Amino acid sequence: MASCEDQDQHKRNQFVVDAMHVGTWEWNVQTGEADFNDRWAEIVGYKLDELRPLSITTWLSLAHPEDLEHSSQALERHFSGQDAFYEIEARMKHKLGHWVWVLDRGKVISWSDDGKPLLMYGAHLDISSRKEREFALRQSEERFRALIDVTSQIVWCSDAQGELEEFDPSWASYTGQSREEWLDGGFRNAIHPDDRDDLMARWHQAVESGLPTNIGLFRLHHVSGQWRWNISRTTPVHDSEGKIISWIGMYTDVHEQHEYKVQLEENQSNLEEKIKLRTSELAKAKIEAENANHAKSQFISNISHELRTPLSALIGYGRILQSARLDKTARDQLIKLNKAGEILFSLINDVLDFTKLEANELQLSHETFNLRHKLLSLISIMGISADEKGLRLILNPLPPTLARYYVGDPMRLRQILFNLIGNAIKFTEQGEVRVRVSPPSPISSDKHRLRFEVIDTGIGIAPADIPKLFSRFSQVDDSNTRQHYGTGLGLAIVKELAHRMGGSAGIESVAGVGSTFWVEIILDLTPDASPPPAVDQAPMADSVVVPTLEGVRILAVDDSELILDVIDVILSAAGAIVECCPDGQQALDRLRDPSYSCDLILMDIQMPVMDGNELVAHIRRDQNLSHLPVIAMTAGATQTEREESLAAGVDEYITKPFEPDQLVNIIRQTLNNQNPPSISNGKAEI
Ligand code: ADP
Repeated sequence: MASCEDQDQHKRNQFVVDAMHVGTWEWNVQTGEADFNDRWAEIVGYKLDELRPLSITTWLSLAHPEDLEHSSQALERHFSGQDAFYEIEARMKHKLGHWVWVLDRGKVISWSDDGKPLLMYGAHLDISSRKEREFALRQSEERFRALIDVTSQIVWCSDAQGELEEFDPSWASYTGQSREEWLDGGFRNAIHPDDRDDLMARWHQAVESGLPTNIGLFRLHHVSGQWRWNISRTTPVHDSEGKIISWIGMYTDVHEQHEYKVQLEENQSNLEEKIKLRTSELAKAKIEAENANHAKSQFISNISHELRTPLSALIGYGRILQSARLDKTARDQLIKLNKAGEILFSLINDVLDFTKLEANELQLSHETFNLRHKLLSLISIMGISADEKGLRLILNPLPPTLARYYVGDPMRLRQILFNLIGNAIKFTEQGEVRVRVSPPSPISSDKHRLRFEVIDTGIGIAPADIPKLFSRFSQVDDSNTRQHYGTGLGLAIVKELAHRMGGSAGIESVAGVGSTFWVEIILDLTPDASPPPAVDQAPMADSVVVPTLEGVRILAVDDSELILDVIDVILSAAGAIVECCPDGQQALDRLRDPSYSCDLILMDIQMPVMDGNELVAHIRRDQNLSHLPVIAMTAGATQTEREESLAAGVDEYITKPFEPDQLVNIIRQTLNNQNPPSISNGKAEI
């Protein structure tokens, strides 16, 4: 009979067991009888009654077969006294079919006299959820390990203070270091000496910041003996309270990429160097080409100067002789001679003009002019050539909306139309040449776009030849046996001049039927209030009326006797009194002679002893002479030459060779500019 005290103790034990929520078991090791409590059965999903009759077999039938061996060993150790307790973690089959993990712990409480275990008590604690967590953690670790294994990077781990903790086999295989070498400061040694301090400083900064950091680029010693470029990144690992417990980092070998980048940068800078060099070579070549171009322009200008001087004499004499009494044969020959001179003159002019256009030396003037008068005058002059070929040159009625006065370069406009009409006459054997001016289209309040068309019934041009027409030196018929003279420059000049005047030029043509050459240019309108220029009040200003220079005293200065002779004949015929000098010095001496006086000086620019520009500079500085008008005769005729002469003090210039009328007109105009009131009806009264 149990005492009251024993019963109380049993009850207390029962309370403790219930409170701990553990399953209990009692096992008679010798007989195999066993007993379990309700909780024991509940852990595996049963009511205790469902498991009856209870014996050790009850446990055996529910235990995982793989855990039995383990259990026997643990029992053996306990029975032999090796372990104070029997303890295993084992799986039990749940009623629903899954496995439940239990911590199975027990102790023998009575032994037989011969030392065999008799009675054993124990408990089952359900540890399934802890086991699940452990399992999940293990899985995650395995995944992490697998990840490290498959990456080519070196992964490392340090404690919270940044001291390396774990020796990574990938470090060993990359650097060739053993664990011992690694422990013995191997990490520092594996970093390139030049990168070491910098890398350590950045690593300590990262640890201080407590943030994920790119530590940057450094060289790491490779097992092959090579220093290889790596980059490193590190990130902190926190505990559940957010405290850093360790650092995980990675080295990635970027050697090839880095070398490639360096190579690329080198190539790029080499390329930049090369480009710089090439650019400076090109700039040098450009300057050389410009110099060569300038030298070429200068050469052509010089040659044309040399050609113009004798040509001036030739044309001058021809003109003079035309008024002499000659028999028919001599007159015919003279006409041919004059014609040949004119052709040569126009060829030289074309070459010179083109050279100036190419060298960008051609400046357009801004003069007010009467477009109708200019057109009528041109048509009347060119009509003579058309007549000679039996062609009709017709100017279509001009549009009424055409302004009376325009501002632009009438001389260059005349040159454009002269070229186009000249070509039309040249390449037309029968029929007509028609000039049409379209109604002007206003492009702003003070500008008109004007279109001129020259339409002929001539040989026309095949479509294949059209694209090259406006290029320099291009001719449809470039054979040696061609019928028409020409340089192939005329249309190139037309196109270039049209561009300079804000427009363009073009052609429509049908071979064997005829051509229409057109040109468009922009001209300024005169402000309403401005009066028309004096010269335009007389219509047909280009007509062949020779005005008189009766009694005008002119000092002509030129080193060419021929030119002086021609000038003398032309001006004397117009009534002037001419005295000639061969150079600037003699002219200056003559002018300073108190017994001599004159009204105008006509001088060449290029002369020996003293050139024209020096002479005019002396004249302008001399009180007694400074009022005298000076006209320069230029043969080179480049813009620079003219500008130099005007700057030196010249009033006007005329380009050699000149027409007699042109020379007389320019002298008259210059004198009139000096004494405006004396002009009247195209005659000078001085
Ligand atoms: P060129 O001094 O040879 O006349 P251009 O530049 O004025 O030089 O003309 C170039 C070429 O264009 C001429 O040689 C000729 O073949 C062709 N051409 C020009 N105008 C006409 C035209 N009205 N009819 C037919 N062909 C023409």
